[in-house]
This record gives sequence, C-alpha cells and structure tokens, in this order.
Amino acid sequence: MTDTTPPVLDIRDLHKSYGDLEVLKGVSISAPKGHVVSLIGSSGSGKSTLLRCANLLEDSQQGEILFEGEPVKWRGRGPGRHPSDRHQVIRIRTNLSMVFQQFNLWAHMTILQNVMEAPVTVLGEPRQEVEARARALLDKVGIGDKCGAYPAQLSGGQQQRAAIARALAMEPRALLFDEPTSALDPELQQEVVKVIKVLAEEGRTMMLVTHDMRLAADVSDHVVFLHQGLIEEQGPPGQVFGAPASERLKQFLSATA
Ligand code: ADP
Ligand code: MG
Repeated sequence: MTDTTPPVLDIRDLHKSYGDLEVLKGVSISAPKGHVVSLIGSSGSGKSTLLRCANLLEDSQQGEILFEGEPVKWRGRGPGRHPSDRHQVIRIRTNLSMVFQQFNLWAHMTILQNVMEAPVTVLGEPRQEVEARARALLDKVGIGDKCGAYPAQLSGGQQQRAAIARALAMEPRALLFDEPTSALDPELQQEVVKVIKVLAEEGRTMMLVTHDMRLAADVSDHVVFLHQGLIEEQGPPGQVFGAPASERLKQFLSATA
C-alpha cells in the first residue's frame, strides 16, 4: 500500500531575492510526516531564508509552498507576490512552529507565561488548559522548576529548552529549528540536543537547520546540503556524511569536522 498522506511541508522550486540579490534560486524540499529533514550549508547559503519563507515570515517571488497538500494562495506575481489569505497564513504559521538561534523569549514574561502566551492569545484556548499543558511541556524539557523565572535568570540551554516548550505548546504539525544550538556553549548544547533527539524519536516532523553535523547525522531521515541558494546534494545521512559525492560538500564537511 502506498502512503498518500501529503508532506506536512512541501516547497517546490522556491525563488527568493532581496532586491538584486537572489538568495534562493529554485529550491525544492519537503518534510514528510514524521520525518526529520536537516539543512546544512555554509553561512549565507540561504538556510534561514528558506525556513522563514516556509512559514511565511518572508515573501518569496516564485515557486509553491504546500502545507499538508494545501498550496499557499498568492496575490500578484514575482516581486509583488504576497500571500492573499490572512487566515491561511496564521494557520500555517501556527502549525509550523519555529525555534530560533537566539531563543527570542519575551524578557518581561516568566517562562510559564512565555509558553502560554500564543496558545491563549493566538489560538484562543482556555487559560487553565493551556497552563496545564505548558507545565507538562516545561517538565518534559527538564525545566519544570523554572516556571516562575524570567528568561534572564536562566542559562542559554534552559532558555532554548523553554523556547522549544513554547513551540510545542502550539501543538504544531511540524517544528522548524534554525541553528538551535549555535548560540550555546558546548556543554549547554548537549541538553538541547537531548531534547531534539527525544522529539525525533517521538516521530515529530521537523526541519532542522544546524551546524552540528553529529546531530544532523543522528536524527535525520534526510539531509540537504545547500550551496549559494541551490541544493548541491541530498540524501540519507549515511550517504551525505559517509559518501559525499560533490566536491563542495566534501570541502564543507572537512571544514566543519
Ligand atoms: P544562512 O542562514 O544559510 O547563513 P541566510 O538565509 O541568513 O543564510 O542568508 C542568505 C543570504 O541572504 C546572505 O547573503 C544574506 O546576507 C542575505 N540576507 C538575509 N536576510 C536578508 C535581508 N533581510 N536583507 C537582505 N539580505 C539578506
Ligand atoms: Mg542562518
């Protein structure tokens, strides 16, 4: 029997420019349900831009983005193109929760308030239910005792785990991670890596931009190497890391080893 479930996220031939600078030159990538897709590549290759276009934080000029088989509706063409359906944008954005390199927690809110904020204000869910879920998620990421603390009172690793709990609180269909461990000291990276591995084992759908090749090798079903806005090589982690074909990928891997 063939699986006809559409990918959670399906990006086809995406082009994105900032003025004259073409950052994405026709990139196709998809995240099937339950899969972890990692995106690797040099700084400036377009990884963050791709994630931001995927959850419609940025406009793109050409190509399609499908969420669970449903194409994003656009108004206009080329440089004037924008998503046309505000409700669709909100639905897609809340279902593709993003975790950023710099955590981006709200400094004036406690950790618990940070995790509760979007489900209450964006999804309109009852506060009590959201609070129970938020506490359980903070337990899950190992900082259940930090509910009343403010972000500045936490280590970077704890803040990033709070940010992951906040993303999970939306009960998204997929998680998008943009270099979730890059801002952390090496010893704090591991506590975040551990959480990401648990999420992968639970079968969550994820798109993960990372500079941590070991993490990408451990959790990914599929690895995509981006070079100057184009996919240079892709495949299962064993192949991409074990038997890279392109010279650029070989160079990149030897530089990051
Ligand atoms: P990566 O995440 O792979 O390091 P980015 O997606 O952040 O790469 O950036 C890709 C290219 O797009 C870089 O050349 C960067 O300078 C450029 N860029 C990113 N964001 C902007 C922006 N808001 N305005 C103009 N150029 C941008
Ligand atoms: Mg980036």
